[in-house]
Amino acid sequence: MRGKREWVDETINEDAGFRTFYEAVGGIRMVDSTQDLAVFQNPTFGKMMILDGAVQVTERDEFIYHEMMAHVALFAHGAVRRVLIVGGGDGGIAREVLRHRAVASITLVEIDGAVVDLCRAEFPAISAGAFDDPRLRVVIADGAAFVAGTEDRFDVIIVDSPDPVGPGAVLFQPPFYRACKAALAPGGLMVTQSGMPFLTPGWFASHAETLRTVFPAREFFLSTVPSYTGGPMAHGLLPAEPAAATPALETLATRYAAAGIATRYYTPEIHRAAFALPPYIGTLATGTA
Ligand code: SAM
Repeated sequence: MRGKREWVDETINEDAGFRTFYEAVGGIRMVDSTQDLAVFQNPTFGKMMILDGAVQVTERDEFIYHEMMAHVALFAHGAVRRVLIVGGGDGGIAREVLRHRAVASITLVEIDGAVVDLCRAEFPAISAGAFDDPRLRVVIADGAAFVAGTEDRFDVIIVDSPDPVGPGAVLFQPPFYRACKAALAPGGLMVTQSGMPFLTPGWFASHAETLRTVFPAREFFLSTVPSYTGGPMAHGLLPAEPAAATPALETLATRYAAAGIATRYYTPEIHRAAFALPPYIGTLATGTA
């Protein structure tokens, strides 16, 4: 007999009312944070973290998002040494980037130290020791302010932002994108979390245009993350220079084999296929919908 069922209500957007419910087993714990942060256990997704009403990470499907946010850019680039992660306080992307032995340093800029503390304690498998790796430097600050003020240059910048609300909103604005472009080393690449085009087509089209004005050669790729409801998630791949950001399959396969990384979602074939956009997304991305 199930105990009293508690439900967590995630509302993605107000108008279409796309709402998803997660049964919280064993109660819902609110965490002291500058943001609305909660943790609970769900039979399907395992332990889950919700921030300002939106699912951020779940134990069971985090590998999909973290592998695609890290490996597409790193294998596309081919010689990454210095990485900046903006957001990413759960440590999942840092874990995946650190698996590339050639990476010399990662700077992770997270605005809320409570997220790092919570994830180290409650989701240790997600960071899997990343926070103790000497190559990782964690800075608790606003990512936009950090990028605007840094003199450092990065081969890859990964913007693991929440949705464009609250403190995350600034990470979707042109000044931040321009500062990121200036902080990319020659041949550098930036990656964004670009939301769910099906749920927010108008926002996605406007976001795509914002990115294109700063990164003319921007491309999008897709991933399917079960707990990010509403269809495929889009990710921006933004080269500092308008070079082809997506190498041939043979090149990706050679780099993947040399890296010796065992993945559960990313493969060179998935990498290439992820850039094949269905027309309903492609036309939004090019402003021809
Ligand atoms: N995968 C999730 C998604 O797609 O929504 C994102 C997860 S990650 C935990 C998002 C992180 O960005 C949160 O820890 C949040 O505290 C952080 N964050 C929000 N605004 C920020 C800012 N301006 N600078 C740095 N980190 C920020």
